[in-house]
Amino acid sequence: MKYQSAYLQKVYDGLAARNPEQTEFLEAVGEVLESLEPVVSANPKIEEEGIIERLVEPERVILFRVPWVDDEGKVQVNRGYRVQFNSAIGPYKGGLRFHPSVNLSILKFLGFEQIFKNSLTGLPIGGGKGGSDFDPKGKSDREVMKFCQSFMTELSKHIGADTDVPAGDIGVGGREIGYLFGQYKRLRNEFTGVLTGKGLTYGGSLARTQATGYGLCYYTEEALKTMRNESLKGKTVVISGSGNVAIYACEKATQLGAKVVTVSDSNGYVYDPDGIKLDIVKQIKEVERGRIKEYVGRAGGQAEYHEGCKGVWTVKADIYLPCATQNEIDGESAKSIVANGAIAVCEGANMPSTPEAIAEYKNAGILFGPAKAANAGGVATSALEMSQNSERLSWTFDEVDNKLKTIMENIVHNSAAAAEKYGFKGDLQVGANIAGFEKVCDAMLSQGIAY
Ligand code: NDP
Repeated sequence: MKYQSAYLQKVYDGLAARNPEQTEFLEAVGEVLESLEPVVSANPKIEEEGIIERLVEPERVILFRVPWVDDEGKVQVNRGYRVQFNSAIGPYKGGLRFHPSVNLSILKFLGFEQIFKNSLTGLPIGGGKGGSDFDPKGKSDREVMKFCQSFMTELSKHIGADTDVPAGDIGVGGREIGYLFGQYKRLRNEFTGVLTGKGLTYGGSLARTQATGYGLCYYTEEALKTMRNESLKGKTVVISGSGNVAIYACEKATQLGAKVVTVSDSNGYVYDPDGIKLDIVKQIKEVERGRIKEYVGRAGGQAEYHEGCKGVWTVKADIYLPCATQNEIDGESAKSIVANGAIAVCEGANMPSTPEAIAEYKNAGILFGPAKAANAGGVATSALEMSQNSERLSWTFDEVDNKLKTIMENIVHNSAAAAEKYGFKGDLQVGANIAGFEKVCDAMLSQGIAY
């Protein structure tokens, strides 16, 4: 990365030299620091107080062995992690990811992004992330339970309702959160809001399951309205993924009058020109934990299945909502999106667009809603779950959903205002980075260097 600011250059180069193999982490830091150039040059205190050096170094990284016994009685060992990145504005908060690709680079990128995302929600939550290279796919419920119990046996020493409150992410849904919560309670003899995304019978919040996908659509609708005088109504939408975020993005986009024509998984994608029939997707993915290719046989009509994930970006649409995983849209896929005449790309997944892809959108004048803003609805609603747990009350679905909608609309407005203040009018990516940073920076400055 090349920066105008010698200070940012020095910090980035030092970080790259210390972590040369952490490509995803360096990509995430590189992108944020680029947006902060004008803020750093306007505020000399940032350099004087070493804010950026401190910001890019996690406060704590916990790495641990997770031994468990499979259904054949064989001992298995996975690696567990928790990255407690920044607690300047509140307890660490961020999901747990269970996927074979998980490593320290991916969790540091996710934890770093989480700092700004959590700040953007306007709620008092710091940034963290964790997970394991465990793959829940193909495992029995009993194996998943044994793994989760072993994972929590170590993690429980490092988290708490006022310290660090994990949630779900890829591979960690309601089933896993339930097993993790049960084990925490057993070990600590405490019934507290130490995890979010809990089931409704034991402290979960209504609308948490829907929150990231719904929030993505509220964000997209507000950004289209304020920046383009447009809306989702009547638009064709391409969605990738078929997990939690994809399913509820599809549901809300459809409710707002759009037609969603694709969903995918890590093997391939489905194109249904009549509009995705979400009840079939929910049955396959939420109930049967099956593969998305089973959709075609059940939906009939003109639905098609294609092997490979990249093809989904060649499908023509007005709006693209990537909801699967990081770096799923490269420069070449972004060129297809541009050629298809897209008006907006808003990110449900974390960092789904490579820097080359983002440059393609911006050159083409496509409205770009970056992940840390567009998918902040999940963590925002997790923070609302924490509030309900603290006051030992449950709010109605509409109460939570209305708060979520307001939070997402505020994120659009605050990002737009921050971008304009520093001379980047209309750039929601730069605006999100700056708005998220300003609050954390102020809190870090107030709390002194060795906090
Ligand atoms: P899920 O595990 O529910 O679903 C993930 C989906 O993405 C599945 O369809 C999965 O397919 C697909 N996928 C996973 N890895 C890959 C890969 N390497 N290549 C292609 N497809 C892949 O996860 P979520 O829906 O919760 O998360 C999706 C994204 O949204 C992630 O980036 C996550 O960090 C982000 N996010 C999630 C939030 C939440 O509240 N859940 C909050 C904010 C962001 P398969 O079944 O084949 O693995």
